[in-house]
Amino acid sequence: MTLNTQHDATQEPMVIVGTGLAGYTVAREWRKLDSETPLLIVSRDDGRFYSKPALSNALATRTAPHEIARFDAAAMAQQLNARVWTHRQVERLVPEEHAIVVDGQRLRYRALVLATGADPRRVPVEGDGAADVLSVNDLGDYARFRERLAACRSVALLGAGLIGCEFANDLLAAGYAVTLIDPAPAPLARLLPAEAGETFARGLAAAGVDLRLERGVQSIAKREPGYRLTLSDGSTLDADLVVSAIGLVPRTSLASAAGLQIEGGIATDAWCRTSAPDVYALGDCAAIEGRVQPYVLPIMHAARALAQTLSGRLTRVDFPVMPIVVKTPAVPAVVVTPDRAPGRWRVEAGAPDSAHALRAICADDATQRMSGFALLGAATADKAALLKEMASTP
Ligand SMILES: Cc1cc2nc3c(=O)[nH]c(=O)nc-3n(C[C@H](O)[C@H](O)[C@H](O)COP(=O)(O)OP(=O)(O)OC[C@H]3O[C@@H](n4cnc5c(N)ncnc54)[C@H](O)[C@@H]3O)c2cc1C
Repeated sequence: MTLNTQHDATQEPMVIVGTGLAGYTVAREWRKLDSETPLLIVSRDDGRFYSKPALSNALATRTAPHEIARFDAAAMAQQLNARVWTHRQVERLVPEEHAIVVDGQRLRYRALVLATGADPRRVPVEGDGAADVLSVNDLGDYARFRERLAACRSVALLGAGLIGCEFANDLLAAGYAVTLIDPAPAPLARLLPAEAGETFARGLAAAGVDLRLERGVQSIAKREPGYRLTLSDGSTLDADLVVSAIGLVPRTSLASAAGLQIEGGIATDAWCRTSAPDVYALGDCAAIEGRVQPYVLPIMHAARALAQTLSGRLTRVDFPVMPIVVKTPAVPAVVVTPDRAPGRWRVEAGAPDSAHALRAICADDATQRMSGFALLGAATADKAALLKEMASTP
């Protein structure tokens, strides 16, 4: 995969699809390097710029849905010296013609960046209430969620991953009764080793979350008011609102229909280059060197490197060690997952006088080299020291 030098594209704009963190960050970084080349950003949403992580702690920070966005599309267009097309869906990619199709019109690009994000995974449940289950993955979803919440006292959350746990904590802090349901034996099962997951679960339970682990939801029936959920062990529970946070699926359909390689996300090499010339991808939609990393820090790193590449300095995305901070004040958690180098987890007791404190280190048995860590409660204070240690070990 190389930059296509034969293509004479001097009259055509750089095109970015998506106005999420990935799309706008690559635009901003690229503009620092190139203030002249025409830039077009196309989005099917309203193009407001906002911090998506703020959606799962906006109740605690007393932020109203309309206060979350920092800039509207017009302000972004001005800041970026770009045209920002909103409520326009890219229907098709025609990479062999360096073109996209928007509203039936063919539009040529000099280079194309796909930053199309991901779709919430849908829960396969039965019952007449299943269609009412909400997911929260953008500002529009969030406004609907807050509207429904206004008439609720209890919420059932499906999925105890990062987003489910953060919403559970946020809802609890705002006075809602929260039930968190997950088939895994502990919350944050993809991030934490088992023992840390159990400690985290105890922390959430102590704060008031009703955890229903090792069972899924079979059906959701409408009641007046609210819903009755039947779980896979036959137990039932009632809630005024049901929210699903069972994961995201990268939006790859545009890319796959155009014949681009897909590997869980839109496949790119370490330079964010897809299998089509002059087409790049990053953010929740992309699998950079085989890994989808749907978090802020990887997006920022990829955007900075891609901006350099787009301005003509081919730059590899070298991800540093990137901690994932879980916004659950009831049991703060920081994790570096050991996905680059596996190892064995060793759990060290936290300070005896601080509730739910735990420090788990993942290290290679032979070399003792640290490949990841998980910190809970007061032990999160060790984050900087451990990051430094990881960065300094070859
Ligand atoms: C509730 C919540 C809390 C989170 N908290 C954290 C956190 O604490 N820390 C952390 O690191 N990460 C967190 N994340 C993850 C992080 O926010 C995301 O990884 C990141 O925001 C994804 O940005 P993106 O630009 O890739 O995707 P998105 O923000 O989803 O943007 C995708 C864009 O593509 C556009 N689009 C899609 N298809 C088309 C099309 N065909 N035509 C035109 N436009 C199209 C959409 O309209 C949208 O503008 C959280 C996520 C959620 C949902």
